[in-house]
Amino acid sequence: MILISACLAGTDCKYNGKNNLVEEARELVRQRKAVPVCPETAGGLPIPRWPAEIIGDRVINDHGEDVTSCYMDGAAQCLQVCLKNACRIAVLKSNSPSCGPHSVYDGTFSHTVVTDRCGIFAQMLKDNGVECIDEAEFRERADEFV
Ligand code: SF4
Repeated sequence: MILISACLAGTDCKYNGKNNLVEEARELVRQRKAVPVCPETAGGLPIPRWPAEIIGDRVINDHGEDVTSCYMDGAAQCLQVCLKNACRIAVLKSNSPSCGPHSVYDGTFSHTVVTDRCGIFAQMLKDNGVECIDEAEFRERADEFV
């Protein structure tokens, strides 16, 4: 089973109420080969919500509110889904402060990406031995998942 960021599978769970649909990802969910999760909404954040970025060891939204506990709670819940379904690989939305597997925005809300850290949920998955790839890598490796 593959774990997948729900927004990549077409769920309208982004901060702005939209999604990041990758049709091949949605197809995997349809075929029950992938399980979609959204750590931010699992942590109780609404749709839509203010965008947030990682600043130091906190997650702060663009209204200055500290939403770290929501991010941590949601990530922990989604990790349980991952473990319960024995997912060994996760396809995650790039640059997200939750899901970004290789990079996140830098905390300045200027669309600047840094590659020296990953999202809160992605780090939790990696700490539990789950391979994390982004949507571009998923497209490149799509044949593996059919
Ligand atoms: Fe998509 Fe992850 Fe953000 Fe949810 S938390 S909207 S799944 S990138």
